[in-house]
This record gives sequence, C-alpha cells and structure tokens, in this order.
Amino acid sequence: MKVICIGRNYEDHAKEMSSPTPSEPIFFFKPDTSIFKNRNFYHPKFTSDLHYECEVVIRIDKVGKNIQTKFAHTYYSQFTLGIDFTARDIQNECKKRGLPWEKAKGFDCSAPISDHWINIEQGNDNIKFHLSKNGNIVQKGETKNMIFSFDELISYISSYITLKKGDLIFTGTPAGVGKVSKGDQLQAYVGKEKVLNLNIR
Ligand code: MG
Repeated sequence: MKVICIGRNYEDHAKEMSSPTPSEPIFFFKPDTSIFKNRNFYHPKFTSDLHYECEVVIRIDKVGKNIQTKFAHTYYSQFTLGIDFTARDIQNECKKRGLPWEKAKGFDCSAPISDHWINIEQGNDNIKFHLSKNGNIVQKGETKNMIFSFDELISYISSYITLKKGDLIFTGTPAGVGKVSKGDQLQAYVGKEKVLNLNIR
C-alpha cells in the first residue's frame, strides 16, 4: 500500500506557510513504514522542529486508474484522522536547495493514524475536525474548505498513478501547524469524538 499526502489543500494553511494557493493538487508520498498506530511516539533525534499537521485520511476501496471525478466517490467510503509529521527544519533546508522532501516527511512513524474508521455519508460529507495539544485546540478544519475535494484529488492522482485497495490519502492540513516537543500530548477529534491520542516521548 502507499500513503499519498496532499500539500496546501487549505487556503489558511497555504497563507501561514507564505505559499501561493495551488492551481492543481500537490502530492507526495510517505512509505508504508511511516504508518504508526501506537500511543507513544518517540521524537526523532534528527530534527529540532517537528511539526504536527492534523489531516482527514481517506482509504481507497478498490483499484482504479484515470478515475473521473464523477465516479470518484465509489472508490472510498470511510475516513479517519492522521498526523502528517514533518521535520520542518529539514523540509525548509530541502526546499531552499531545491531537493525532494522525503527525508522531512517520510521518516519512520511519520504518519500516525487512528484505527477508528468512520463512514462518509455522501451528500452530507462536510467533516469537522480539530487537534488539541496539551488540552488546547491548535487546529480546526472543515473539509468543505479544502481547495480540492476528495473526488477531485482521487481523479487527479489516478491520472498519474494507479490507486489500489488500502492506499491512504492524507488530504491536507488546515492552519495552525506547530511544533511538538517531548512530553506533549496530541489529541485529534472528529466533532466531539476523540479518535487519536498521541504522547510525544
Ligand atoms: Mg500535510
């Protein structure tokens, strides 16, 4: 399986990164070794600026290539929340030198994800989610504010790359990204329901 992550899919996050709003989806990959399902996350030693990015994650249900936007909804049925951990110091260095970001985004355990999958109701599919750090809300998102919808993302990605059953798409993060340090606690919620709990060790 593969993990596909969307960059800058919320206007407010593009602004906080001083990046232009994209005219087409930006995507990159994390390897399967990035998936992390435990409660205690060990802060990697190679970064001193580890950032959380809380994101809605959808899971692909069946194989597809060149999927039309109008049929894309038949390729997924559930979502959950995950964190796209980013070594921001390394990412900034890579960007500055015009190099790929994988080192900053795809390291081991960089994609904590909840095991709690929630059905997506078609036609009533605005997902409200938030992330709290040490009990304070730091990120708040609604998927209706995504620049590219789930269906548009699936159509776009599948025009380049075959999607397979079990592939995950991290659909981008709203504003409020920030640093985590040892001892912090992250909790991600859908509405009022807590779906992810992470202790940074
Ligand atoms: Mg992200």
